[in-house]
Parts: sequence; C-alpha cells; structure tokens
Amino acid sequence: MAYCPFCDFEKIKNDFVLYSTKNFFVKAPFGLVTSGHVMLVPFADIRTFSEIPKEIKQEFVELKEKVCQSIKKAFAEPFMLEYGVRLQTVPHAHMHFVPKNGRGYSISNFQEEFVNSSGLPYEIADENRVREVFQKEGEYIRFEYQEKIYLFRTKKIEDVSSLNYRDFFGNKKGLKGVSDWRTLSQDEKDADHQRREETAKLLNFVH
Ligand SMILES: [Zn+2]
Repeated sequence: MAYCPFCDFEKIKNDFVLYSTKNFFVKAPFGLVTSGHVMLVPFADIRTFSEIPKEIKQEFVELKEKVCQSIKKAFAEPFMLEYGVRLQTVPHAHMHFVPKNGRGYSISNFQEEFVNSSGLPYEIADENRVREVFQKEGEYIRFEYQEKIYLFRTKKIEDVSSLNYRDFFGNKKGLKGVSDWRTLSQDEKDADHQRREETAKLLNFVH
C-alpha cells in the first residue's frame, strides 16, 4: 500500500496540527497562500469528504463552521476548496480554507473572480448532490463560500488545470512560494514557515 502522510499522525502531529476533534484534525499545510490558510482532514483514510460516514457528518459540519469563524476572526473570511481526486497531491481527503483577503491579494467577489474565472462549467450543489456525483462519477472538485457549494463534475472535463488554486495564486496573483509546495526554495520555505507560525499563533479554536 502506498505511504499516506495524513495517516501517519504520529509523525505529523507536531508539524502545525492546530486543533483536533474525535474524527478530524486541522493543520497548516506547506506552501500557504497566506497566513490563516489551513486544511481540515479526517483521520479516516478516505479519498473525499463525500465518503465520510453519516455518524460523523454533524461533527464535520460543526467543525467546518468553527474553522471558518476562527479564520474570519483572526484573518479574513475564508473560502473552501476540495479536490475530489483530480489535482489532489495527497490521496487522502482534505479541505483547504483560504482567507479571501491576504498577502498581496483581495477577492471581493468570489464567484466572479475565482469560480467563473476558471472558464469551466459548474453547478450549485448541496452535500447530497456532491455525494451522488462522486458515487456515479468517482471524482469532483468543489469550491465553497458562504455556504454555497460550487460543484465541478470533473469526469466530463479533460483539462482541470484552471481549477488549481496554486496556479491561481502563484501565477495569476504572483504570490511566491505557492505554485508547488513540493519544490520550494530555501527562502520560500523560511517565509512559509513564518506564515505557518503566524497562523498557529493567531488562530484560536476555543470559542
Ligand atoms: Zn491516508
């Protein structure tokens, strides 16, 4: 079986894991877009959030809201991204939360500037629809902002590169140290480490 870093919790638990509940943890990734950028990850080794068992759905919904509120309070209101298989660099479900204003960028209309700028078709969906699409097609990409889910049925799309947020921030917005978290230079790694520390320091999940 292939090695999965998100299943190796003993190894990553001291690497900017900021909060955890019974079934999920919140972690600062590598290659932060800006301070306040975190990931929500289930302990279970599932590929997408559409597969989380019914029993822990409520825990997920509550934690997602808690993470949003925490980021909003300390940084700016976040939007969410989930790469349901395509563009996923770790094959274990994780949802990115990115503040809509941050280092050198500001997104005032998420749908217009981020979702529509991909040029790809999507539908407004709910959790049931996301699950249905995954069961039928085995993949999807989902963006979310203010409780609105933008669902891309990627099975029908050959080139999904315009949905890559790293491309959006690294190329379109020109942010350094974002394009690919696996190939950061030493300077970029140092700057990234500072952003991760700032995230850990300012985010407060107890409220
Ligand atoms: Zn895993």
